[in-house]
Order: sequence, then structure tokens, then C-alpha cells
Amino acid sequence: MFLGKQYSVSGRWEELALQNDLKSPFTSHDKHTIVRLIAGQAELSLYVHIPYCTQKCDYCSFFSKPTFHSHSRSMQNKKIYIDPGNAVITRIIEEVREAAKLFGKPFRTLYIGGGNPGLLDREILQEMLAASSLHGKPEEVSIESNPESLDASLIELLADGKIDRLSLGVQSLSKKNLVTIGRNFSDPEQIRNILADYCLPGRTWKLNIDLITGIPGQEDGDTENDMDEIIALADPEHLSIYELSIEPGTPLYQRYNALPGGMKLEDLRDESGKNLRKIWRHAAELGYKQYEISNFARRLVKSETDKFHTCRHNQTYWAMKPYLGIGPGAASTLYADTHAVRLEAMADLSAYSENKKSLFSKEYKIEELTSLEFLEEKLIMGLRTSEGLLKKEFLRIFNVPILSLLPKTLRKLLDEGLAVETEDAVILSMNGKILLNTILVEMFLEIDQNVKLVPSGIDLTAVFEL
Ligand code: SF4
Repeated sequence: MFLGKQYSVSGRWEELALQNDLKSPFTSHDKHTIVRLIAGQAELSLYVHIPYCTQKCDYCSFFSKPTFHSHSRSMQNKKIYIDPGNAVITRIIEEVREAAKLFGKPFRTLYIGGGNPGLLDREILQEMLAASSLHGKPEEVSIESNPESLDASLIELLADGKIDRLSLGVQSLSKKNLVTIGRNFSDPEQIRNILADYCLPGRTWKLNIDLITGIPGQEDGDTENDMDEIIALADPEHLSIYELSIEPGTPLYQRYNALPGGMKLEDLRDESGKNLRKIWRHAAELGYKQYEISNFARRLVKSETDKFHTCRHNQTYWAMKPYLGIGPGAASTLYADTHAVRLEAMADLSAYSENKKSLFSKEYKIEELTSLEFLEEKLIMGLRTSEGLLKKEFLRIFNVPILSLLPKTLRKLLDEGLAVETEDAVILSMNGKILLNTILVEMFLEIDQNVKLVPSGIDLTAVFEL
């Protein structure tokens, strides 16, 4: 599971922006501003958020609601689908169509995430795909699904080439681990059968499997065993392995707030952190390249080039290229001249369905990112990837060399083997990636001291020169 579902920055830069009197023309909810922004992008990826799941998982902090008030059940295959007349989904499709009209070119990539988009009625899903392809099919079309929503009709869309990638939320093949996190579908035997029925090697489409590690009480080697078994069954081109995040406000957080033996949530995170090195090494032994902190891709079959089955849509986020997020709770990053603009669609189903004719209206909050916010996000995104922070790009955008902005932190990282510097980039080592959050805090503190070096205007043309 990922983003459009967004990485958001803290609001602390807003204060600095105010101090520096950085005024933005992008502060209203004005529909015309959004329309102009969409029409004006040189390239654009599209994220569509389907805010429904059959039932909420205990660890989930994404915006999604249970479907039980609004679903239909197929008599033929006993699957549950979102009611085809659902007003939220109707508005989402209208906005997708409107965005395609406004943009006037094929979207670069499309990612249908959630929630569980596997719950979409198949005719409705086809309508959504058609709306997004008004000016041509995107280079890459991905869809997320929970295993239990997979069926022949979804596989047909993949086999026909209407969708290129399926991202399947397996999370674990251990009943105990699935129950611990309160996963909404926790039958590993059925997951195995689903993989064997629909995802055998030799398929024409690409498969990603989502796994969660760092689960309280998980056995040493559980995640590696899951990887081995999944590869033997389905040989996926891509793996996403996320550390469990126990977010405040979730039922899982309540459950682990009072841990036995004086254990704290931080201890659980430490244990999980130790586990990561072994998992990452295991992925490399199995032939997967870690191209982002949680994402692993296999080499293109029989290719002599150094190309991998990476997810091009998610690479849009890490390279901070423009993307439009449609659906309640989705975020967008768009550009206009030297301005970087963040849209956030309100996480509110009623508002979204009540105004179903009023596309891109007041449910979307608009905010300009300051140079400092943009810089902070650039660090967060760049350091997650195997390419690292690209020195020339950084200089072109921010008009200051990364080594001048962060001399102390970078020296320390290089001395301690937490990062390497090449001619082109600063790249975190394996140990550096484990300590990413701590490293980012140190970087932000140093930027606070050197804030005068960051110009108020930034050169966004560099974002498109990659
Ligand atoms: S399936 Fe995914 S989005 Fe839905 S409740 Fe579970 S974690 Fe959240």
C-alpha cells in the first residue's frame, strides 16, 4: 500500500514562511485554480483513491470506510462489490474523466489504490479505466487489491493488458501475525490458494506482493519464510516490505499502549529495526534490487540492460514529479512556474457524495509548498531511494550545493559509514537507511541553522530534467 496516500511535511515551515513573508497565490479552494493547474502540467501521473474496505484492519491509518452499508454480492462468485450506484465512486469517475479532458494528453501512469479497489464492480472499474485513457492509455496502470477480492474478472483485465500491475496486500502468511495486527482477512491457506489459482509464474502482467514486518511477537525469519514461499508460488516481479507502523488512534495502538513487562512501543520498533538488515540481505540473495527503502524489484527477464521491474508510478512520488490524486483523502503535487502546490481532497465521504456534480470544488484544499517545505520533502524522498540525493539536481533547484547546506550532518554520515558520496549523489548505506528518521531530524536541525542559504524562489524546471 502506498501513498497519493501521502508523505506530508510538518507545519513547522509554515511558521518560517510567515516570518519570511512568503505569500502564495495558491491559498483558496478555487475550482478555476485547480482546473488551470491540471491543464498546465507538462506531464502528469494520476492516483485514484477508493476509500472502501470490507472491514477496517486494526493497524490501518489510511482513509477508508467499511462497505457494509453499500455493497452488492455477486451470486456467481460470492464476491462483495461496492454498490455500482455509489455516489462517491460516481464522482471519482467524473473527476477522472474531467482531469483527462483538462490535461489533454495521456497520463504518465495511473495507480488505483485505497482502501481496497478490488471491491470495485468490474464494469465500474472498466468505466474508470476508460475515463483515465481518454487521450491514450498511461505507460503503466496499477491496481491494488486484497487477496480475497481477486477473481477471474479482475485477472481478465490484467490478462487483456487493460491493467499492467497488480499489487496484492498479502501482508503475512502466518495466521498468528495476521491476527496480531488485526488484518481484515487472516486466512493464509486461502491466500496460498488465491496465489496458486490466479498468480502463477508465466502470466503476462506484473505482480507486486505487499508484506508487513516488525509485527509484535513475530518469529525470527518469519518474513524471509513468507518471501521464499511467495516466490515459490507466484514468483512476483516486485515486493514491497513495510515495517509495521503502530499509529496513534488505531485499535492496534490501543492494544499495545500497555505492553506487558514494561515494554514500550519504541522497544518493538527497535526489535523490528534489527530484523530489517536480514530481510534486505535476503531480498538481494533472491535477486531483488532494493531501489527504495521498502521496495524491491527483479531484473527484467533476459534483459542485458540494468533495468528492473520498478513501479514507475511510485517513482513519480520519490522524484517529486507531478501527480494528481483524486478521491476522498488523496493528495496531489502540481507545479506552476516556480510554485509547487499541494492539493488535498477532504477525507469526508458525505461531502464528496453530496456534491457529486461539483467537480474539483471546495472538498480540495490548496496550499503552496514553500521552498523549505519542498526542500524537506526532497530530502525525505531522495534519501529513501538507491539513487540517493542527486547533487546537480539539488543545486539546480535550490541554488545551493547540498554539501554547503548540510556540511556537519553529511560529514558525520560519511565518517560513520551511514552514507556514501559518489560523483553524482549522496546515498544512504544500509545502516543509514535503518536510521533514516533520526538522520532526517539531524538534517532539519542543521537546515534551521542555515535557513538563510535557501532561496525563497526555486527552479522547478530541474524536476522535469531527470
Ligand atoms: S485493507 Fe488496507 S486500506 Fe483497508 S483497512 Fe486494511 S490496511 Fe486499511
